[in-house]
Amino acid sequence: MSFFVVDVALPVPLLRTFDYLPVEGEQQSDYQAGQRVRADFGRQLLTGIVLGTRTTTEVPQNKLKPLLARLDDVPLISEGDLSLARWMADYYHHSVGDVLEHWIPAMLRRGAALTEANESGWQRVAPNDSDPVLRGDKQKALWQRFIEQTDILHSQLTSTGFSLAQCRRLAEFELIRETHQLPQPLIPATPKPFLTLNGEQEKALTLMKNELGKFRACLLEGVTGSGKTEVYLQLIDAVIQQGKQALVLVPEIGLTPQTVQRFQERFSVPVALLHSGLNDRERLQGWRQAKEGVARILIGTRSAVFTPLPDLGLIILDEEHDGSFKQQDGLRYSARDFALVRAHQAKVPVLLGSATPSLETLHNALSGRYLHVKLTQRAGNAKPPGMKLHSILHQPMISGFAEPVLSAIKQHLDNQKQVLVFLNRRGFAPLLACRHCGWMAECRRCDARLTLHQYPPHLHCHHCDHQQPVVHTCPECHSPDVEAVGQGTERIEESLSELFPRTPVRRVDRDTVRTKQAFDELFNDIHQGGSCILVGTQMLAKGHHFPDVTLVVILDSDAGLFSADFRGMEHSAQLIEQVAGRAGRAENPGDVWIQTLYADHPQLNLLIDNGYHALALSMLKERLEQQLPPYSHMAMLRSECEDKGLSRQLTDQARHMLQDWLRQYGKGNAPVTLLGPFPAIMERRNGRFRYQLQIFCPERKSLHQALDALVKQLQSLKGFNKVRWHLDVDPVDTL
Ligand code: ADP
Ligand code: ZN
Ligand code: ZN
Repeated sequence: MSFFVVDVALPVPLLRTFDYLPVEGEQQSDYQAGQRVRADFGRQLLTGIVLGTRTTTEVPQNKLKPLLARLDDVPLISEGDLSLARWMADYYHHSVGDVLEHWIPAMLRRGAALTEANESGWQRVAPNDSDPVLRGDKQKALWQRFIEQTDILHSQLTSTGFSLAQCRRLAEFELIRETHQLPQPLIPATPKPFLTLNGEQEKALTLMKNELGKFRACLLEGVTGSGKTEVYLQLIDAVIQQGKQALVLVPEIGLTPQTVQRFQERFSVPVALLHSGLNDRERLQGWRQAKEGVARILIGTRSAVFTPLPDLGLIILDEEHDGSFKQQDGLRYSARDFALVRAHQAKVPVLLGSATPSLETLHNALSGRYLHVKLTQRAGNAKPPGMKLHSILHQPMISGFAEPVLSAIKQHLDNQKQVLVFLNRRGFAPLLACRHCGWMAECRRCDARLTLHQYPPHLHCHHCDHQQPVVHTCPECHSPDVEAVGQGTERIEESLSELFPRTPVRRVDRDTVRTKQAFDELFNDIHQGGSCILVGTQMLAKGHHFPDVTLVVILDSDAGLFSADFRGMEHSAQLIEQVAGRAGRAENPGDVWIQTLYADHPQLNLLIDNGYHALALSMLKERLEQQLPPYSHMAMLRSECEDKGLSRQLTDQARHMLQDWLRQYGKGNAPVTLLGPFPAIMERRNGRFRYQLQIFCPERKSLHQALDALVKQLQSLKGFNKVRWHLDVDPVDTL
């Protein structure tokens, strides 16, 4: 038998792949790129992906180990997906084995067989006009079920009151047989008709239909409530008619039952879902439904962008500006950017939708690189909300509210409407302080103050999760004059309950809504209607359609106005516009009140008077002047270590490495500029000191050559084992 080795990508951080001998007795022709194998790696047992085979290796014979098992005959990952994974590994300077982990669901990563997604069920084998002689109503009812539907999962039968014995009985009559199969997504019996589009929607739809069948990036910039979703639905319909599949990506908290229902009730094709609320088995099922072409529409959050879809015809990314599309640990990829790469490979259009597009996407649209389609009016009879800045400078305040704001709330409640109070701060108060000596409760492990929580009472660090009991006397001066300063959602909820004792007040934040189920229940409740006050964080802000909310109050927009991050204003403006967009989405006009200490802030005024697009244009001008993204490409090296000196030194070293490399190889390339190293805005978090080095370049290629050299050198750097570091390509924040 001739000698060969298998090139295997393993989920380890090293930027390389590994040679193994084949499983004993197996031939070179047994191995194909994309199969899973089990390999012994150090003291671990890992599942890796075959990238290919070779007849030579640089590994000495006595160091070569055989693979323990080959798990697939048919490759699990296609050639096309392998090349996307290689692109991603190069672009993010990440191990290809780690990258490939994103392509396969957890159960398969652990070595499970595809059939573990199957469930037992029953299938009708007799014709549906058979007229068997059955005894008992239950038997007859069961048979009736099979006349209506050929395949039924066992769990569906037991949950509707049928027993295993009854099924066995029908099987004995050879009416049905037991099966073991992939559950199919449900299809609505009669799909709802599509809405008649208005002129703008119609035009948008026509423009985008023209792009089907080829790669094209489109920005659908539509004000909140302009009916973007309706355009998505009708575009998807065109894709389905062509026999293709559609992939719809939504933000983490945008995948509400309402959204899903809107898709499910329109189409007579199976819709699969992939989101974080599913268990591993359900994820595998959704993945297989997509991969095997059973599901024709896949709706999912960030990681669904990797799901194989053999007939992909369109990718839609809703709320494309949303931060949850960027993974913030491990492989720091952007699902939006990757969706573009994937669409390019598949030669299909990608539609990015938002009322508040990121400056990157807007820049691409304005420069003509993307098709730019706009919806400027709200759909149906809805009117845009009236926005008002309310100065609270030197104003008397009642529990965090200005008096006119309280009267507005009262008026909307009297009209039997719902009021949304937005405050992006959980807990009771952001600060516990001593009135006597000025002591403040601070986290021992972070450069941060502890947030006071009331339910249950404790002090909580929102950065490292440290928790401790509330103190009632000052640990410094022993004064009992310790008090909560400022407002969090808990305190606002409490105050509003006192101010409006007859109105239900619902708080919506990560502390009240911990599970997807709780979220779903809450939203159903809100949709029942009736006057109420919703107090919440950004959980409430995005994408939701609350027809009865007519007033939105934004309590504290000021934090973002002076952020140290250059994207601070962009993110604040997006959030304000999105929260404001929850008001007046149905027949009733909406009002938005923004309480601020800085009522003359020019950018805030631009946003209120002329809207997000106008502000975005002015922010783009600033970015151009400062040569910041999107006019330059950016990467960031972050280090963290309990030893402050070491953390700092690693970023210093990185700067030197880059400078040396640029001196040697950078000539003729676009200039790479370095900023830092400097401490992160919160220098110490969870006991570790954090430093960062920012790297800019107007050209992607030159930047990536430099980054490649940097990562290789850092990986072989000695003496810094204790320092954790990572490279963030296209970071979405610099905090
Ligand atoms: P967006 O996604 O742009 O915020 P939606 O798609 O949620 O907006 O639409 C907002 C509301 O307008 C929804 O209730 C939707 O049913 C309604 N709507 C959308 N398009 C139309 C239309 N052409 N005619 C009537 N109502 C519409
Ligand atoms: Zn004190
Ligand atoms: Zn902390």
